[in-house]
Parts: sequence; structure tokens; C-alpha cells
Amino acid sequence: MSVRFVIDSLDFVYNARTHHGKIPLAGLLRLQDFLFEDTGSTGTLSYQISGKHDARGKPNLTIRVEGEIYLCCQRCLGRLRHTLDLRTALLVAKNESELSQADKDESVDAILATSDLDVLNLIEDEIILSLSISSRHPEGECEINKPEAQENNTAANKENPFAALAAIKKMH
Ligand SMILES: [Zn+2]
Repeated sequence: MSVRFVIDSLDFVYNARTHHGKIPLAGLLRLQDFLFEDTGSTGTLSYQISGKHDARGKPNLTIRVEGEIYLCCQRCLGRLRHTLDLRTALLVAKNESELSQADKDESVDAILATSDLDVLNLIEDEIILSLSISSRHPEGECEINKPEAQENNTAANKENPFAALAAIKKMH
């Protein structure tokens, strides 16, 4: 089953278009690496993409993705239920110089305008980016979160950060 969906990014914005649909998890091949065992073979995510101009009149694509997935906890490797509720706005840069300008501003995510933007590929990128900080059980729910392990963590955190700096300085 083909799930590709391609748009002309600037045209999409100028015409204020909106598109929504469902993506089978099984179609997101790169995401599979993050999912718990075979939970990626069933289920769907809903998405919406809209073209609009932001407050400064710049072309933007806004993306929304919702759904439930099961991740693999990075600490205990157990199953971790994760509710995706992703909303992001991407500035559409018209050329390389606009893109590098936008990249200097950390509050802005930008993509280069193209006439054949693969929307599902872009959505998969955004999902994967959003997962890096959330793929662990919260404290107290993780299998590996035993008191001994916590003591070790605390000891490590107490290490003087300046000791490392002093070590570097001695090398000069
Ligand atoms: Zn865990």
C-alpha cells in the first residue's frame, strides 16, 4: 500500500491549503526502530498539515500528529505507552540563504521550499525528533529505577564540574 503524499510547499501555503488523514504505523519504517517489538505493525496516527502565513507574514507549514504508540523505554527496555500530540510550525525558506538565516534563530524550525515535499516523510522526521526526550518511563515507574541505582546517580551528579575543566587546563 502506498502512503506517499507529495505537495509543493510554497504553493500549499499560498493557497492556504489543509490536508488531513491517517497514517498506518506500519508505513513509517524509520519509526519502527523506536517502537516496542511488533507494536508498529498495527494502529494508525492522524495528522493534519496546513499552509499559512505566520504573524510576520512568513510562509509556514503547521503540522499536527495525534495517536498512541508503544515505545521501548531507553532505560529498562520495557514497553512504554506514549500519547503523541505533536504540533509544530515549520518556516518554509524560499532559498538557501533564507534557510541559513532561519537556522540562526533557535526558536524557528525551517525547511527549504520544494515542489515535491514528501509530507509523510516530514511527519515521520518530526515524530522521531519529538521522541528523543520522552522515551523513558517516568521516575518510579521504570523497572530499573531501584534505590541503589538512584544512589549512584546522585553520587555522579555531585562530582565537581570544575574538576574536569581543571584537568583540561593542565594540558596547556
Ligand atoms: Zn523503563
